[in-house]
Amino acid sequence: MIGNGQTNLPRGGVFIKNSMTRFFRGLLPAALLFILANCPDLAAEAITGREALQYFQEADAITRADGGALWGVSLGGGLLLVDPATRIAYANRPDSQGRLARVGPVLRGEIPMDVNLANTALDWAGGKWSMFLLPLPTEREKRATLLLHELWHRVQDQIGLPASAAANHHLDSRDGRYWLQLEWRALAAALAAEGAERTRAITDAILFRERRRAIFPGAAGEENVMEMHEGLAEYTGVKLSGAPDLARYVIDGELKEAAKKETFVRSFAYANGPAYGLLLEAAGASWRERSLRKRISRRPCSRSPKLNSRRMGRAPPKNARASTTARA
Ligand SMILES: [Zn+2]
Repeated sequence: MIGNGQTNLPRGGVFIKNSMTRFFRGLLPAALLFILANCPDLAAEAITGREALQYFQEADAITRADGGALWGVSLGGGLLLVDPATRIAYANRPDSQGRLARVGPVLRGEIPMDVNLANTALDWAGGKWSMFLLPLPTEREKRATLLLHELWHRVQDQIGLPASAAANHHLDSRDGRYWLQLEWRALAAALAAEGAERTRAITDAILFRERRRAIFPGAAGEENVMEMHEGLAEYTGVKLSGAPDLARYVIDGELKEAAKKETFVRSFAYANGPAYGLLLEAAGASWRERSLRKRISRRPCSRSPKLNSRRMGRAPPKNARASTTARA
């Protein structure tokens, strides 16, 4: 019978054909999975489970190596890597409400519409998480900085440095931007230098900072609030980034990028936090311990570590105002 291949085949041929059909039927789902996993367009997923696992392992290695040394607590915790287009998230640990399903070594689920998607720390599904929008930075050190930045936000309440915000509108004014950018240039010069040259640049940075704060009433308080929030988070990210030369990393990274931002009202702390943190450390100041002691005394943590030339190695000039203008 034409049209019925089976009848035209000898018995051995029929057996082989049926076997091959079964083989390909069995192979098809696996082949499709392979194609989906290796073709981002078809898969419509920002990352694969394997990539998510790699990021989780990177964060885990850093927090384990830190072992609570930086802030007195482990920075390790729940991570959510979220595709903002689909709200699909990969997680590194189960949630207590069963919203995440295990997929091999990671977990996967959908973040509901009532949750704001952002790089942030949040309470969700019965736990506290650090959330990251995909894609993550491709450079390993920048990725580590972001991961640790948000992991610090996750524990900041726990260590007594709670989340806070201030408007800092003055940093979008001409004078605010002018004196802030002078401060950044002086900070970059200080991080690049050593010895007397460094202390001279630090003195410049503090003079520019104080001049700005003298122009705008309330500026010091508002800037301190943001430096204690975003500044400490970014310092933590930089400090644990694994960059071989942290000073150079900040000069070429935060300090250079900061000036390109359209507004400085929040982002300024991303530059100031790591820069002052590294300079204070280099000067032997125990500023992190001082910040944490406020947790014990339960005083409001609205002040940055007090920055002055004396603490950072040099007495301030006698006529500060004239010196500031001359140095600008
Ligand atoms: Zn932040």
